[in-house]
Amino acid sequence: MIITMIENATELEVSQIVEHLAAGEFQSRISQNGRVHIAALGKGRAEEIEKLRRFSSVADVAKAEQPYVLASWQMKPERSVVRVKAVEIGAEKAVIMAGPCSVESREQTLSTARFVAANGAVMLRGGAYKPRTSPYEFQGLGIEALKILREAGDETGLAVVTEVMSEEDVETVGQYADMFQVGARNMQNFALLRKLAKTRTPILLKRGASATIKEWLLAAEYLLAGGNENVVLCERGIKTFETATRNTLDLAAVALAKELTHLPVIVDPSHGTGVRSLVAPCAKAAIAVGADGVIVEVHPNPKEALSDGAQSLTFENFAALTAQIAQPIRSIASLN
Ligand code: PEP
Ligand code: MN
Repeated sequence: MIITMIENATELEVSQIVEHLAAGEFQSRISQNGRVHIAALGKGRAEEIEKLRRFSSVADVAKAEQPYVLASWQMKPERSVVRVKAVEIGAEKAVIMAGPCSVESREQTLSTARFVAANGAVMLRGGAYKPRTSPYEFQGLGIEALKILREAGDETGLAVVTEVMSEEDVETVGQYADMFQVGARNMQNFALLRKLAKTRTPILLKRGASATIKEWLLAAEYLLAGGNENVVLCERGIKTFETATRNTLDLAAVALAKELTHLPVIVDPSHGTGVRSLVAPCAKAAIAVGADGVIVEVHPNPKEALSDGAQSLTFENFAALTAQIAQPIRSIASLN
């Protein structure tokens, strides 16, 4: 259930409702954007909800329309803007995150960071812990990579996003990263989500390759329910019968997710297509359907990349893309 308080409800009135809900064995989550909305969560005593209508501080009591209560517009009728250092995701300007699939060396990461920072990126991506399909493939440099990312971020001013693969790495990754990435393979690793929810570090939640939109939003709900509101969704392609592309980039899911949730949504056309030449057209399409930004893989020499070379942009490709993603495309999206 979602309780909407009257305009200008006082803190005391809000805490009275929260106490009433606690007595009825409901948990509460509050969202405050002009009006206060209180979500009554869990399996409490329904009759206590009915009594809420008698409080003069309560304007409305409504059934939650979606199972992902906290992620829904009903709970927060205002776009969420997630701040990662100075970067605002979900605000007017589409954000560009870029960097190598994997951190391979200091030189490779620093040169990429310098180039993308000078050419429109505001965040640096790079994998330190890599979820590779084969155990014999490059698994990432771990802590050494985290240190390189931090150095590159500090030098260039780019905020750093990197994947955390397991619960035991949350603390270490959190010491170096400005934003955690939950990879597609871990979207429903609920123990990891619960642990990340206890931090205040922003989280980029990738859609699982076989996850429905509802499952993706419910994974986000784990983070919100656990106390971390700084969640950004990322569409990165799903598995279909098609084999010509690595995944099938589901841009309709982006437009739909924006209808279903107040959370920002970005797109990863690199993993979404697996094909270098398709990254720029799909990045532009992503912005046109309303994405709040894109995350793309860039490598100084894709042929030599230790992972995902076939989908990595060269520096030249990246500069050409960002020149095109600027303001005009965002205005097409705002015409919708
Ligand atoms: C990545 O971003 O390098 C990655 C492994 O992404 P995904 O989890 O979407 O496959
Ligand atoms: Mn990759």
